[in-house]
Amino acid sequence: MQGKVNSSTSMESDTRSTEVKSSTTIIKPRCRFAPSPTGYAHLGSLRTALYNFLLAESLGGEFILRIEDTDQARYVPGSVEDIINSFKALGIRWSEGPDVGGPYGPYYQSERLEIYNKLLHQLVDEGKAYPCFCSPERLEELRKEQEAARLPPGYDRRCRDIDPAEARRRMEAGEPYVIRFKMPLEGVTVVQDYLRGELAFENATLDDHVLLKRRREGDEYAWPTYHGCSPIDDHLMHITHIIRGDEWLPSSPKHKLLFEASDWEVPVFVHLPIILSPSGKGKMSKRDGTTAIRDFFKEGYLPEALVNSLLLLGWSSSTGKEVYTMEEAIAEFSLEGLSKSPAAFNPEKLLWFNGMHIRRLEPKELANRCLPYLQEAGYVGAPCTEAEFDYLLKIIPLIQERITLLSEVPAQVDFLYKDVEDYAPELLIPKKTSREETLQVLKHAVALAGTMADFSLEKINAEFHSLPDKLGMKTGQVFMPLRVAISGRTVSPGSSTEIMAVLGKERTLERLKKALARLEG
Ligand code: GLU
Repeated sequence: MQGKVNSSTSMESDTRSTEVKSSTTIIKPRCRFAPSPTGYAHLGSLRTALYNFLLAESLGGEFILRIEDTDQARYVPGSVEDIINSFKALGIRWSEGPDVGGPYGPYYQSERLEIYNKLLHQLVDEGKAYPCFCSPERLEELRKEQEAARLPPGYDRRCRDIDPAEARRRMEAGEPYVIRFKMPLEGVTVVQDYLRGELAFENATLDDHVLLKRRREGDEYAWPTYHGCSPIDDHLMHITHIIRGDEWLPSSPKHKLLFEASDWEVPVFVHLPIILSPSGKGKMSKRDGTTAIRDFFKEGYLPEALVNSLLLLGWSSSTGKEVYTMEEAIAEFSLEGLSKSPAAFNPEKLLWFNGMHIRRLEPKELANRCLPYLQEAGYVGAPCTEAEFDYLLKIIPLIQERITLLSEVPAQVDFLYKDVEDYAPELLIPKKTSREETLQVLKHAVALAGTMADFSLEKINAEFHSLPDKLGMKTGQVFMPLRVAISGRTVSPGSSTEIMAVLGKERTLERLKKALARLEG
């Protein structure tokens, strides 16, 4: 069953043409992400949406967002908004979707019921589907009998051979019914999957599944099942590639048969391997920690890092390059780089990517990203004033090379926003240094700072770096007490002179004097 897509099929020519960017017969792919609003956007949905988006973007095609909200019982309020907001923040853009409209809308399936009812009844008229009048009670009975006899569950096709005229009469008389697909009873259905090659499904094992549910009293139209409406939309929205998770593989023969029964071209199927949990054992799930995109944002992850990390969970470039911006990913992405084997989500690698992308941001941009965290900590007002933003811009060089999460920022820079915490005077005294020597350092520092008219970093560096020589001490013996005096701790971001420059002359002097007083006791 494994192997590449068979070259005699029309699908293969689709696949190939999307791979050849210089070809004159490029088919611009139309890809879709079709989430059910049953929960918040998570890592798995990000990867699926990302690959669809990248394929479309890389070849000048379109990426479409379609909301598959036909299972109203599982609807989670707020999930559509979360999906839209999360993906926008991640830099994934769609040219057609519920919020932007488009030529093949509406993009909420719940607003397309008339379309499904019409097309599925047309299939009935053509003898490719049939109304089933069996009551839920009868089906329940049947299920129990099958279970008792250890038979596989499935519809026994009682209504399949009702005379079409008779079936029509019963439908028109208002008898409740569902529409079932008339599956072929024998032979095999071969699905071409881009990654897995040819997959053969025994038709005898495929159920006459429901395409359209019973119309509810008071409803104008009946609701379709996922299998009933997803292929219809993929056709009507001219989808060329269906990239989705492996869990939909068993659905693919059903969908392929529906495309064929309707004489529609079958899109290219790409079923992505599952994402494994960090341990590599089993599928990644909520038990493995945060999976919701919104939670990653809250924890201080950059959209760039999430995109980068998920990009490489199932795709790689032949160059082995690892750090990607979205634009770089668009330029390099192709289906050929997709992997058939599942990859494990690696939280440490995500952290690493986060650090890498923090370093790559323009300082002003990084300041903007840090703002919400500093506002939440109460260090910066909301809205932030120009003076506050300028001050933050001075802090950025101290942290840009050392933070891995944006949420770390408030704790790292708190001493730049409020007075230093109380510390034990002994903290000021470095190892192998006497109290007397440290007092000398602080006295000299106070005197030096006091005389400086220009308190620029350049000047501070020039003046303070001559102190160790002047005092006949080692660099650490001088700068360690200074760091503690101005930041209240032995480990703080930036060099001591950088911190002084951010604080300015007044606050630096004040902190140095306080330290001196402390040590003098
Ligand atoms: N609505 C399905 C989901 O929630 C879409 C599956 C597909 O892409 O066909 O994932």
